[in-house]
Amino acid sequence: MIDKKDIKSMTYDQVVSEMEEMGEKKFRANQIYDWMHVKLARNFEEMTNLSAALREKLAEKYEYTNLKALQVQESKIDGTKKFLFELSDGNVVESVWMKYKHGNSVCISSQVGCRMGCKFCASTLDGLERNLKASEMLDQIYAITRITGERVSNVVVMGTGEPMDNYDNLLIFIELLTNDKGLNISQRNVTVSTCGIVPGIRKLAEEKLQITLALSLHSVTDEKRRQLMPIANKYSIAQLMEACAYYYEQTGRRLTFEYSLVGGVNDTNEDAEGLSRLAGPLNCHVNLIPVNPIKERDYVQSEAGRIQAFKNKLEKNKINCTIRREMGRDIDGACGQLRRRHMEQ
Ligand code: SAH
Repeated sequence: MIDKKDIKSMTYDQVVSEMEEMGEKKFRANQIYDWMHVKLARNFEEMTNLSAALREKLAEKYEYTNLKALQVQESKIDGTKKFLFELSDGNVVESVWMKYKHGNSVCISSQVGCRMGCKFCASTLDGLERNLKASEMLDQIYAITRITGERVSNVVVMGTGEPMDNYDNLLIFIELLTNDKGLNISQRNVTVSTCGIVPGIRKLAEEKLQITLALSLHSVTDEKRRQLMPIANKYSIAQLMEACAYYYEQTGRRLTFEYSLVGGVNDTNEDAEGLSRLAGPLNCHVNLIPVNPIKERDYVQSEAGRIQAFKNKLEKNKINCTIRREMGRDIDGACGQLRRRHMEQ
């Protein structure tokens, strides 16, 4: 059997040329694109302004991805919702919906599993299973929009997976998500988080998008970073900082540095000074994240007083920073844990 083409991962122009090839009028492409990306149809049958014959033909010719929600957990503290979705091949991914004053934000996964091997992260414990298609990244947002009945205004690619390790699909995903014929989410409301794949950062810079790049830094010396993040064996912090400066140069977008505070590992005053030296010359914002302990490793959170002292030190050095509010603390800790628990069962 030949693989059917995945119609939801096609750009508008591609859908137009597919319809032309089928001998259909151009407005059919508009209708189909609208059903997929605005009305968020779950299958071709729902596209009721197309003839039954055309719907059947489409279903024969194209794959139409759709997710099944296996589990939804809602936080009693802040309304955050965690979703476990099943893909058509039986793999599962998780996504998170967060409600903020400025709008609803969704954190999506970009891969099934991950091969980056960061020591404190639950998503990478079993390695990479496969990349997600653009449609499957969109589907997480579409399914959550349908279930909550509320518009999503911000998207962060910070769930399971390394987006730069699935670069081509990531770019198609961003194009479809921000296209004015689809959900039309502003590029400025999209954040992509990377563990620091330097060629990926440089390539993304050259796309000149208006999205925010978040870098998972977590250490200020190469030696310490290598202990937490295997990718640090490949690229040095110096190379990373150059790539970040290049990203800013090309896009004019302020960067975000993510720094997970691990008790006794990277949370000393010296670390804070080092972080100030790295962040100081760049136009960036530092996001301090109290590490979320996972049972497979014995990393612990820094004490509250230490976290505050670390922040004070950064602020004294005029570094723009916030401590990330832990959303949905009661419904499951670190990313990848929901999926992992499901797989263990
Ligand atoms: N691969 C990308 C995006 C997914 S991880 C990246 O590395 O940026 C999203 C963020 O969560 C990263 O900053 C990651 O380092 C962090 N993270 C992963 N597990 C964590 C944990 N247990 N506690 C705190 N932060 C964690």
